[in-house]
Amino acid sequence: MVMKLKKYIRTVYDFPKKGIEFKDISLLLANGKALHYTINEMAKLAKDADIIVGPDARGFLFGTPVAAKLSKPFIMIRKQGKLPGEVRSYDYGLEYGRDILEIQKGIAKKGQKAVIIDDVLATGGTLKAIIKLLEAEGVEVLRVIVLMELEGFDSRNMLNCEVKNLIYIKKGE
Ligand code: AMP
Repeated sequence: MVMKLKKYIRTVYDFPKKGIEFKDISLLLANGKALHYTINEMAKLAKDADIIVGPDARGFLFGTPVAAKLSKPFIMIRKQGKLPGEVRSYDYGLEYGRDILEIQKGIAKKGQKAVIIDDVLATGGTLKAIIKLLEAEGVEVLRVIVLMELEGFDSRNMLNCEVKNLIYIKKGE
């Protein structure tokens, strides 16, 4: 059965800043069937990965259950200062702001194939930063899986890897 996930995404205008069309995933998470379907569909697209990688915080919501379903490792990408031990950092620009992301050195093994999972692909800045971190750790990125991809950004071209979405959202939708 194909489920239409778009109806569970609510657009909130001017949040968290004026001019941003914020895509709220709360209704999808709050619907057990939609959540189950989302995790299953993402897992189908991640079967060939050695590791699943997801960023803090919404990448954890989808990446960890997908990894658990496939019995694969999940690796955290977190904001600066959250991960203990030796870390590798990357400074990048967001649709609304800047951030520094980190991975623990050596947690992913050289030569492993990764699938990255996140909620929204907008500018692609976050995913690009994660790809850079993984490549610096000697990991090959097979693809990126996002719950939704937003129209109006040239993000696919800058990512240089396969991109899969479960929902494509046009401007003003
Ligand atoms: P980006 O680096 O611009 O592709 O966006 C990175 C992250 O910021 C996404 O994974 C989302 O968690 C969040 N984000 C960016 N734009 C939006 C948006 N319009 N609505 C909701 N979340 C967003």
